[in-house]
Amino acid sequence: MFDRASIVTPGGVNSPVRAFRAVGGTPRFMVSGTGPYLTDADGREYVDLVCSWGPMILGHSHPEVIAAVQEAVSRGTSFGTPGEGEVALAEEIVARIGPVEQVRLVSSGTEATMSAIRLARGFTGRAKVVKFAGCYHGHVDALLAAAGSGLATFGLPDTPGVTGATAGDTVVLPYNDLDAVRAAFAAHPGEIACVITEASPGNMGVVPPAEGFNAGLKELCAADGALFISDEVMTGFRTSKAGWYGIDGVRPDLMTFGKVMGGGFPAAAFGGRADVMAHLAPAGPVYQAGTLSGNPVATAAGLAQLRLLDDAAYAKIDAVSAELRSLVGDAFTKEGVAHTVSSASNMFSVFFTDRPVRNYDDAKKQEAFRFTAFFHSMLEQGVYLPPSAFESWFVSTAHDERAVERIAAALPAAARAASEATA
Ligand code: PLP
Repeated sequence: MFDRASIVTPGGVNSPVRAFRAVGGTPRFMVSGTGPYLTDADGREYVDLVCSWGPMILGHSHPEVIAAVQEAVSRGTSFGTPGEGEVALAEEIVARIGPVEQVRLVSSGTEATMSAIRLARGFTGRAKVVKFAGCYHGHVDALLAAAGSGLATFGLPDTPGVTGATAGDTVVLPYNDLDAVRAAFAAHPGEIACVITEASPGNMGVVPPAEGFNAGLKELCAADGALFISDEVMTGFRTSKAGWYGIDGVRPDLMTFGKVMGGGFPAAAFGGRADVMAHLAPAGPVYQAGTLSGNPVATAAGLAQLRLLDDAAYAKIDAVSAELRSLVGDAFTKEGVAHTVSSASNMFSVFFTDRPVRNYDDAKKQEAFRFTAFFHSMLEQGVYLPPSAFESWFVSTAHDERAVERIAAALPAAARAASEATA
């Protein structure tokens, strides 16, 4: 299948992070998913610790999500008119997330951050955007500067195709460094439209914000008249019922969402202060649109998934994450592998270093070659990890005792492989 795919698709994949470039080998082609398991085209079953890069927080093929999708599909797949499903999904988001007074639905996280930045520029009349090295906000041209995720994996400093003019208004700063942000505002007073940050980054591996970092960003933005945009595409509806906002309580001016809120379909959103959102077309002058925005099937899936994500669901995900973190840490300790299991709520990843990781530079200093050996051993033993040392691992409510036992059984050999790996 990969040979076939490589003929008709660049690199054989439709999103670079799915390729095994960072770890070597051939990506697995999956044909079905049930609960915490994926089955590939050769009939091999894996415990899935990627969960479609976050969305499948209830596991694969959750019966109630599937039923909601089937019911929606039976009524038609796209109308190009307003519909009740999109109103209900917007109401659910607004009800959960205090700072979101109004929300606009889009089809991908990339669209959400791109639109939020355009709105911030339109609202403030300013051009510059501050972002942090290692934070990934989708493949928005202006934000493909020192981004994480696939770019961290491939070590691309930036990408051909993004012109100097496009990236010229982007100021890239080290993460978790408020002094750098203060200096940027001092250097460009009244010119910065917004500061965008991952609410808690998961695209350089998991690197949580230092105490007071998000609050400091909010304060510095407010003092200068810039907007504070919190990108919760990954953390939203995952790290708590109200995402990372539910954990640190810092009120952004705008927020972006995706992944979990689409229930495995292309649905994403941006929202925030009503006075800012009022600048968006057709209410205001900042243009933004989408043929499939608020698609009835995607909104039905997202709404069904969100309605199932109650306190008990989050408690279950947090517990399974804690158990896995401890199993993973113990396995590396036993083999004498220098490591840090880094977590933010139930998101976690392993850095192959015992030095603290507070930003992208720290993350890049890990012994990533050890991950390659670890990854392939886990894969051979039926555990599917993200194929990069710079990505978060994701669990779901479906990761039960049997799934955890299968991971636990695979860890000793994989940790040994990591300890024996050479650069
Ligand atoms: N923002 C964050 C924090 C993300 O993690 C991602 C994707 O991984 C995006 C934005 C882009 O979302 P999408 O891949 O749906 O365009």
